[in-house]
Amino acid sequence: MTSPAAFIPFNKPAVVGRELEYVQEAITGKAGIAGNGYFVRQCEQWFTERIGSHAALLTGSCTHALEIAALLLDLQPGDEIIMPSYTFVTTANAFVLHGGTPVFVDIHADTMNIDERLIEDAITERTRAIVVMHYGGVSCRMGRIMELAEKHHLVVIEDAAQAMLSRFRDRPLGSFGQMATFSFHETKNYTSGEGGVLLLNDPAYQSRAEILREKGTNRNQFFRGEVDKYTWVDIGGSYLPSEIIAAFLYGQLEQAQSINNERLSIWNTYNEALAPLQARGDLRQPIIPENCEHNAHMYYFLTETPEARTELLSFLKAQGVSAVFHYVPLHTSPMGKSLGNNAGALPVTEDLSERIVRLPLYCGLSQGEQERVCRAVTEFYTGAKQITPVSSGKMVSNA
Ligand SMILES: *Cc1c(COP(=O)(O)O)cnc(C)c1O
Repeated sequence: MTSPAAFIPFNKPAVVGRELEYVQEAITGKAGIAGNGYFVRQCEQWFTERIGSHAALLTGSCTHALEIAALLLDLQPGDEIIMPSYTFVTTANAFVLHGGTPVFVDIHADTMNIDERLIEDAITERTRAIVVMHYGGVSCRMGRIMELAEKHHLVVIEDAAQAMLSRFRDRPLGSFGQMATFSFHETKNYTSGEGGVLLLNDPAYQSRAEILREKGTNRNQFFRGEVDKYTWVDIGGSYLPSEIIAAFLYGQLEQAQSINNERLSIWNTYNEALAPLQARGDLRQPIIPENCEHNAHMYYFLTETPEARTELLSFLKAQGVSAVFHYVPLHTSPMGKSLGNNAGALPVTEDLSERIVRLPLYCGLSQGEQERVCRAVTEFYTGAKQITPVSSGKMVSNA
């Protein structure tokens, strides 16, 4: 008898380069381990060079970066921010926390991104900004969105948490809006456990953003010798990560291309293996528009019905494969409902969010494991012979 196959987790953060060496270096260095040291600067420089932003401010999380963006808008009660409902909580919460009111717009059925054709109808005299989210690292239609924003004098903020190294019309995501954010949470392509960055493509934001990040002080200007006293000059939070976090992240950034390549290879394996199921009409595979270069942040597909998803997920679990779904649309969440400003339903969001399935995708997912995942999905639909079941639904280590 063959032994039961090991459980395949949904995500596994990997140490891929010199992360630990750099952490050691940060700790033993003479400059201290608080923020704004060598590794924070190295990471920030990496982003300004790769994305072409005017400035990059490393933060404790993408949520923190979005909060700084919200603070930079100086929101007044009643100010509205247009965004998708099909996104992670903090796309909205960062703005709500700092005085904004989210106005949720439906998504495209092909990319799951905000439907730019619906944005203009959502604009009122209180609208201040459009927050786009590039779902799964596939770009929103940035040409049209930037045009609309310009026409209505709105700020565009890219929640590019999932979109590092993705491109639209051969230009990096994170370089389109006046501001953009990336996340380095352990579930993202590049990670420091928790972490984020705020990219500023409009130089006008830089000096206030630095103050907001440093507890409302002009500490940054003081260290650059631009002012002779370091003092309290504005509101602000403590959003600067330590050198330990930045050192780990820099180890990942140095390997960014190889991480991207490995993820793309897994994504392509899934996509090829599941094509016959799409041809049979069992599921719908992701759609990548021609002018989008994606970063394999996630592999997802849509089941025919919500019931099929429930059955598939429990079948996969029994086969030792952890597949998941997300998001509860924000306009249907308890908090979203309490904000109560979304009269209309968002039919595409509500439909697709109940049919999406995400497969395990991480660096180090072996060829054999990728095959097991594909075989399990195929068996669910074709009723082919079952593979050796795992001993239990519990997580077991992935030898
Ligand atoms: C992960 C994610 C965030 C939050 O990132 P943190 O770094 O955990 O704060 C925000 N928006 C989107 C779209 C995300 O996927």
